[in-house]
Amino acid sequence: MYPDFKSRSHSLYYRALASLPGGNTRTTVFMKPYPIYAERGGGCRVWDVDGNEFIDCINNFTSLIHGHAHPALIEAATRQLSLGSAFGLPTESEIDLAELLASRLPSVDQVRFANSGTEAVMMALKAARAFTGRPKIAKCEGAYHGSYDYAEVSLDPTPELWGRNAPVSVAYAKGTPDNVLADVLTIPFNDTEAAVRLIREHGPELACVLVDPMPNRAGLAPADQTYLEGLRQITREVGALLIFDEVITFRLGYRGAQGLWGIDPDLTTLGKIIGGGFPVGAIAGRREYMAVFDPSSGKPALPHGGTFSANPVTMRAGLAAMELLDEAAFARLDVIGKAVRTGIDEAFRRSGVPGGTVGLGSLLKIHFADRPIRDYRSAYTTEQEAQRQAIFNRGLLNRGVLAAGYGLMALSTPMTDLDIDTIVAAASEALAEISILA
Ligand code: PMP
Repeated sequence: MYPDFKSRSHSLYYRALASLPGGNTRTTVFMKPYPIYAERGGGCRVWDVDGNEFIDCINNFTSLIHGHAHPALIEAATRQLSLGSAFGLPTESEIDLAELLASRLPSVDQVRFANSGTEAVMMALKAARAFTGRPKIAKCEGAYHGSYDYAEVSLDPTPELWGRNAPVSVAYAKGTPDNVLADVLTIPFNDTEAAVRLIREHGPELACVLVDPMPNRAGLAPADQTYLEGLRQITREVGALLIFDEVITFRLGYRGAQGLWGIDPDLTTLGKIIGGGFPVGAIAGRREYMAVFDPSSGKPALPHGGTFSANPVTMRAGLAAMELLDEAAFARLDVIGKAVRTGIDEAFRRSGVPGGTVGLGSLLKIHFADRPIRDYRSAYTTEQEAQRQAIFNRGLLNRGVLAAGYGLMALSTPMTDLDIDTIVAAASEALAEISILA
């Protein structure tokens, strides 16, 4: 049972406290009173250093769509390792993966690889500035896009900082320069009228509008069709680029979220699943915008390097992961996702605890709110909701199911019907526990 202060995880955490700040090297995996240390993974399961077994619904924060240690991915990566892991030269592998991505996304002619989603978003914003010659970017309140200063503005404003219809730009990290805030227009998610009005007002200065079609940190509510259409139209009108951050949502379908919504952005950022379990990011889009990176006629408008960008181990594993993700694999992921969402929603109704799931495809988020979740503000948890969330996550953990903090679950292709039943049963029992406490 967690917590167990005699566990190996606890002793590792204790040891980590000396050499890592707060024992931690990644805020997202921090857990009180101590994190569980992983030993190994296989398929949809993970074993910790104390020998406990879990069904993994975190999947390294959505990046492992085939679970752990898939034989085809191990083969692709190890074959490349034996040939060399990285070179100061390009390799054929980057062409192969770029061609695959361009073949799936109608909005994409060309691709530029990086090492993380953070880097992909940073380079996409810089590409939009370089292309338009304009300084400002617009992004949605509460949406996470990695750690670039501009991209993390207004990630978690507290209610006393909420403007009325016009969200204000608020620093996420201490020390954020004021001029960063001045160059970011924060728009509300899923409020077409307000967003369009703000974008029109700031239009001549805007390089781009950055939007995640189903932003995890802002509640994982899917964007309204009319919202994305509104952004598509107004960005064209004011001459700003529309950037879809598909670092997570590319796992929603064969052509990503843009295929589901039927909207072509100007630039797309990718990451997570396209690296086959290895660090990756990518900026993708039409040739005319991607030309800012082109060094063939002298110094490009936007020089971009990266010692490990497009390293062939990532490229080969990523290609293997993406080749496994054919239309049939996505259809199966949709079935798995729907079964888990429906099962958990029914468990909520039986338990009488307010709440339920949101999400699409292989992604879902569990909310303890008695109201529709549409954006950052409606997803903002009360103290009681946050408490229930914590008890629920602990309940899942002690029944052998791992979910990310904030209730996010990312499912994977190796999950069987039996695994789905186990996940739903664990959720039902955890909810029953909450209903007794309530
Ligand atoms: N964009 C989105 C939508 C993300 O969810 C994330 C990470 N969860 C990032 C960008 C940053 O990606 P990375 O962690 O690879 O830097």
